[in-house]
Amino acid sequence: MEQKLSQIQKDYLKKIQSAPNLKVLDEIFLELFGKNGVVNKLSEEFPKVPKEERPKVGPLFNRIKKELEAVIADKRTAIREEGYKKLETEKFVLQPGRLQAKRQGHLHPVTKLEQETIELFKRLGFQQFSAPHIDTDEYNFELLNIPKGHPARDLWDTLYIDYPGYAPGKLLLRTHTSNAQVRSMREFGTPLRMMIIDRCFRYENLDARHEHTLEQFEIVYVDKGVSMANLQYLSEYFLKAVLGKNTKVRMRPKYYPFVEPGAGVDGQCLFCEGKGCKVCGWTGWLELAGAGMIHPQVLKNGGIDPNEYSGIAWGFGPERMAMLKYGIEDIRIFKSGNLKALNKIHERKKPISPAKIAEPEGDVL
Ligand SMILES: [Zn+2]
Repeated sequence: MEQKLSQIQKDYLKKIQSAPNLKVLDEIFLELFGKNGVVNKLSEEFPKVPKEERPKVGPLFNRIKKELEAVIADKRTAIREEGYKKLETEKFVLQPGRLQAKRQGHLHPVTKLEQETIELFKRLGFQQFSAPHIDTDEYNFELLNIPKGHPARDLWDTLYIDYPGYAPGKLLLRTHTSNAQVRSMREFGTPLRMMIIDRCFRYENLDARHEHTLEQFEIVYVDKGVSMANLQYLSEYFLKAVLGKNTKVRMRPKYYPFVEPGAGVDGQCLFCEGKGCKVCGWTGWLELAGAGMIHPQVLKNGGIDPNEYSGIAWGFGPERMAMLKYGIEDIRIFKSGNLKALNKIHERKKPISPAKIAEPEGDVL
């Protein structure tokens, strides 16, 4: 019996020490201490042990049993610690998910055009200005030389707002960014180089060229000696930068109530290069911007003496411009939230990088 115990001790110490993982160690434990394990079976043999050997075998059995239990517990701790160490030093390689690698966001095409525009006019010393979306009849119409009953009010289909404290027809969603004109004159005085790019609202019949919510860009430049020549320069500077160096630009007389004289700014048709096509109505030109010398009355309303100063206003619709630039036929795509369509536009043409646009020479304005 004594010999048998020593053999078990020797065999199992070896097995335990060489156990590679917890699973094997658990198996060894069961082999030893399980219901049908070695230890239980040995204890069943005790009655057969001669009486004189029993005082020796009993304590030996207990000692070996305890020793094996302790060695298994130590080995279990050792295996666990080794595992933790491995985790700490192991390098994980993280691979990007397939979806993440495929899909990449980009700016909205109109936002890109607006950012280019801001950059272009910043270079000429224009500062961004903002005016309220909800405004009074006064700033949107009256101070711009469009009094009540003036036929020009028919040009704007206005969305009026009923609000306590305001008479009907007093409060409205601004129909153009020009509500910033008199505000900026009153706030900054002269000389003034202001630009505004923002949303306007109109009660429109929606179609491929008309939206109820539209973007507008506009500049106001007031100083001594400002003339129509500055307008021609600005129009060429901007349209060549955005639509290409070879874009030809012309101005022709057009009526706006807050400018005198007023001008429509045309760019040579991009689709037919001036030869005449369906898009340009066979004229070879497309109207791209509106402009004019600021009316003396509007300057006066802004607190500026029209005998000393003159000013120009110039503006365009970024969505209409983006339609031309990216060859889009329906304005409603821009605010549709249709990612598929917007992604297609994004892939169509790379926007012009402002870095590639020639710096203006000298003080051109
Ligand atoms: Zn054409």
